Amino acid sequence: MNVFLLLGSNMGNREAMLREACALLAAQAGTVTGQSGYYESEPWGFEAATWFVNQAVQVETALGPAQLLHAIQRIERQLGRVRPTSPGAYASRPIDIDILFYGHDVIHTQELVVPHPLLPRRRFALLPLCELAPGFVHPLLRATVASLLLRCNDRGAVRPFGERETENSVLRTV
Ligand code: ADP
Ligand code: MG
Repeated sequence: MNVFLLLGSNMGNREAMLREACALLAAQAGTVTGQSGYYESEPWGFEAATWFVNQAVQVETALGPAQLLHAIQRIERQLGRVRPTSPGAYASRPIDIDILFYGHDVIHTQELVVPHPLLPRRRFALLPLCELAPGFVHPLLRATVASLLLRCNDRGAVRPFGERETENSVLRTV
């Protein structure tokens, strides 16, 4: 299955954390078939001193949705993430990996909601994703990623970051 993930880090060496997460995904989740550039984004929903570095990653996986979630949670733990005690609380973390799309599947279980429900409201997710898959159609909203980005009114700052330069024209056109 073709899946899109969003990686985010706002603790420690953020770029090293994303590189390491990709290596662990390749070892434990499937084949990494695409990586966006890095974007630095303002913390969303909570106050934090350090901005996030985000990257969208495309993976071809043989894992089912729940197996994939468990694999990414294991990778988060391997990279030193300790979950906050109150569920749903936003906090600084060395790594966060979210499933944005699992093919075009629509999934609603207690532990997993896909497509990621906040994707349309988050510029820091849509911008990197748009580099990889501008024409991918959201299975519920029936709109492409590019059109979701154009109509997203999230005003949080998102800017290209660091050595992994963005390769296409998304930033020039949006
Ligand atoms: P957040 O990503 O919202 O900041 P967490 O990474 O701590 O918070 O995730 C909280 C829970 O979200 C996880 O335990 C997981 O079961 C659930 N979850 C639901 N849908 C998804 C998804 N699409 N991708 C990743 N986690 C998800
Ligand atoms: Mg998460």
